[in-house]
Amino acid sequence: MVGIGVNRVVPSNNSSAHAEIVAISFSQKALSTFDLGGPGMPEYQIVVNGRPCAMCCGALPWSGIRSLVIGASGERIESLTGFDEGAVHPNWQQELESRGIEVIENVLAEEAEVVFQRFRDSNEPVYNGRSGDDLQ
Ligand SMILES: [Zn+2]
Repeated sequence: MVGIGVNRVVPSNNSSAHAEIVAISFSQKALSTFDLGGPGMPEYQIVVNGRPCAMCCGALPWSGIRSLVIGASGERIESLTGFDEGAVHPNWQQELESRGIEVIENVLAEEAEVVFQRFRDSNEPVYNGRSGDDLQ
């Protein structure tokens, strides 16, 4: 394992500090490279508790990651928490795979959903852009 990440949006006042971005950033910093898929690199994998949002799906091809392992689906995240996961491409799996990123879904999905249920029950802020006001 090279790096880990947790969501730091609220404490860092940074809307892009999603767990995936944090994990990729720490990993790239640790390895002193912007490309985790560069020459001579092993095939790095990112493991996430839920399908990446639109921003994070977009960041994966730029990172050099070669494999994505997902727990909960995006639909379950949205229904459990109220987060707006954004305009994820309808064929996001194929889009990632066409760029050399393996996609493995539903790994321990029920266990992953428990984390989102705990978040929902914690009354922590659901920090959609614009506070989600126009999304209701
Ligand atoms: Zn994200």
